[in-house]
Amino acid sequence: MTDTRFAPSPTGDLHIGGVRTALYCWLQAKKTHGNFRLRIEDTDQQRSTQASTQVILDGLAWLGLHHDGEVIYQSQRFTHYQQIIAKMIEQGLAYHCWCSAEELEAMREAQKARGEKPRYNGKYRNGGTPVEGVNPVVRFKNPLSGVVTFEDKVRGTITISNNELDDFIIQRSDGSPTYNFCVVIDDAEQGIDLVIRGDDHINNTPKQINLYQALGYEIPEFAHVPMILGDDGKRLSKRHGATNVLDYRNEGYLPQAILNYLVRLGWSHGDQEIFSLEEMIDYFSIKDVHSAAATFNTEKLRWLNQHYLKESSPEILIEPLMQQFRMLDIQIKHEKAKQALIHYQERAKTLKEMAENMRWIAQAPQHYPEKAVKKAFKGAESSQILDDMANEFAQMTEFEADSIHKIIEQYVEANNLGFGKVGQPLRLAITGGAPSPDLHISLALLEKNEVIKRLNNAIAYIESMK
Ligand code: GLU
Repeated sequence: MTDTRFAPSPTGDLHIGGVRTALYCWLQAKKTHGNFRLRIEDTDQQRSTQASTQVILDGLAWLGLHHDGEVIYQSQRFTHYQQIIAKMIEQGLAYHCWCSAEELEAMREAQKARGEKPRYNGKYRNGGTPVEGVNPVVRFKNPLSGVVTFEDKVRGTITISNNELDDFIIQRSDGSPTYNFCVVIDDAEQGIDLVIRGDDHINNTPKQINLYQALGYEIPEFAHVPMILGDDGKRLSKRHGATNVLDYRNEGYLPQAILNYLVRLGWSHGDQEIFSLEEMIDYFSIKDVHSAAATFNTEKLRWLNQHYLKESSPEILIEPLMQQFRMLDIQIKHEKAKQALIHYQERAKTLKEMAENMRWIAQAPQHYPEKAVKKAFKGAESSQILDDMANEFAQMTEFEADSIHKIIEQYVEANNLGFGKVGQPLRLAITGGAPSPDLHISLALLEKNEVIKRLNNAIAYIESMK
C-alpha cells in the first residue's frame, strides 16, 4: 500500500503539468490500494486564492481523480506548525535570525565578490542579540557536514553535500511557516509513503530530508517528474494555448482523453497508445517514467479525443455536449441533440467542434457559402425541385427518416433525375453547408414545418439571385 498526495499551491491555474503529476500520484496509489491525498498548500496568503482552489477541486473532480479522505488546507494548520517550530527552537533545532533584508543582501554581495556561492552565513546560529524593531525569522539548523543521499524513483541516486545547503527559513518574519517546513510536517503526519512532484522541487528535497531527520520522522520515497515543454521546446505556458485544465473541458475534450494523453506523456508501455483506466492502473509504474522532459503535442491529444468521442456511449457524451451548446448559445432540445449525436461521433475531434457542426439543427442558415451555391442552387431548376419537395413533404403525415428517403427516391425516379440533382439543393437549403449525416437522416432531425420553411427561404434566395 503506497499512500501518495497531490499538493498544489492555489496561486494560479491548475495546469496540465500539475494534472499529470496528480494522475501519476493517483495511479500509484490505486495500483497498490493506497490512499491518494489532496493537500492545498496555501501558506502564501498573498498569492493564494479561493478561485484557484476551486479550479483544482473542479479540475480533479472532472477528471475523476478523486482523493481519499478530507482535503487538507495548510492555512488552517498555522497554529499547529507554529507549535512545532516553537518546540524546535526550544530543542535547539531551529533559531531566530534578526538579519535585515539589507544585511542579507550585503552578505550575498560580499560572497559573490569572493567567488563563493551566496548563502546565509549562520550569523545567529549560535545565538545573538535581538535587534530592536525587527521581527525575526526562524531558521532550521541544517547539518554543517556530511551529505544527503536519496534514491529518486525517476532520477536515480541524488547526493548533495550539506555544505551546499544553508540554514533555510522555516517561519517568515510575519509568523507564517514556509513551504519547505509545512510540506515535511504534513507528509509525515499524513503518512505519505511516496512524494511525487515536479522536478522544480528537486533542490528542496535534501533540505526536507534533513528536517525529517531532525524531527525523527520516517523519510518517504521521492519521485521528481520532469517538466512538460511546448512544441517549441520552451516550458509549457499560456503561450502554447490552453494550460488551465478546465479550459480543456470548455474546449470539448473528454476526461478519458486527457488522462490517456497525460499518462503517455513521459511514460510508455511498449507502443500501446490507448489505455483504459484499468490498464493504466495495471501497467503504470512511477519508476518507468522517463527522466527527460516531455513535449506537449496538441494534435495527438485531439487524435485521442476523437478516439474517445467515437468510443463513448451517447449517454456519456450528451451532458458535456449540452454544456457546449449552452456555451455556444445554441438552443437545442436534449432529445434532438441525443438523436443527432450518434451521427456526429465519427466526425469531430472535440465536443465543441461537434456542437458547432450541429448548429444548423437549431439555427436555420443565415447565408449559403458561395461555392456551394454555385454547385447546388443552379437557377430555376433547383428552385423548382425545392418547391416540389416542399409540397411532397407537406403531405407526409409522419416525418421520419425512412419515409423521407422513399419520397426523395420516388421523386428522383419519377423525374428521371440524378440523386445529386435533388440531394444537393435540399441539403444546402437545410444545413447551409454544415457537415451533416445522410440527407434523409438530416431532414428527419428537423420538424417538418421547419424543413418547409428552410426550403422556402432557399427558394426565395435563388429567386433573388435571378
Ligand atoms: N505546493 C508545491 C507546488 O505547487 C508542491 C509541493 C510538493 O509537491 O511537495 O509546487
